[in-house]
Amino acid sequence: MKIAFKKVGPNKKQVHYEKEGLSIDGTLQRGEKSLVDLGARMSGRIEVECIRCGEPFWLDVDEALHLKLSDGVYTGFDEEADVVEFYDGSIDMEEIIDSESASIKLDYHICPACKQKEGEDDGSTKETCE
Ligand SMILES: [Zn+2]
Repeated sequence: MKIAFKKVGPNKKQVHYEKEGLSIDGTLQRGEKSLVDLGARMSGRIEVECIRCGEPFWLDVDEALHLKLSDGVYTGFDEEADVVEFYDGSIDMEEIIDSESASIKLDYHICPACKQKEGEDDGSTKETCE
């Protein structure tokens, strides 16, 4: 799903996009410095790998997503949010959801079974080698 930068004005525009069980719901709005604000909620499930046992499992995702979208190269720095650049005059929601899910996958995740095992050990959260 692509949305032309030209079509995003100062009034909030609803946006909804779903891919592989993840969805983004929110609004696009032209902000300062020619950037477009994306204020959204990302929710759904994503398959990640457990760092302990290496098994894939489904992680529930429900988090706020705030990005600034730039029509072309953005040379400044924004303190409020990450700036994502698009080079063909339109906002690609698929690219946003792909990069967000990729960054979630890069985080450390522990599957419920390993979490439970940890809890049964001695209640502490220290790292254990098996
Ligand atoms: Zn595990």
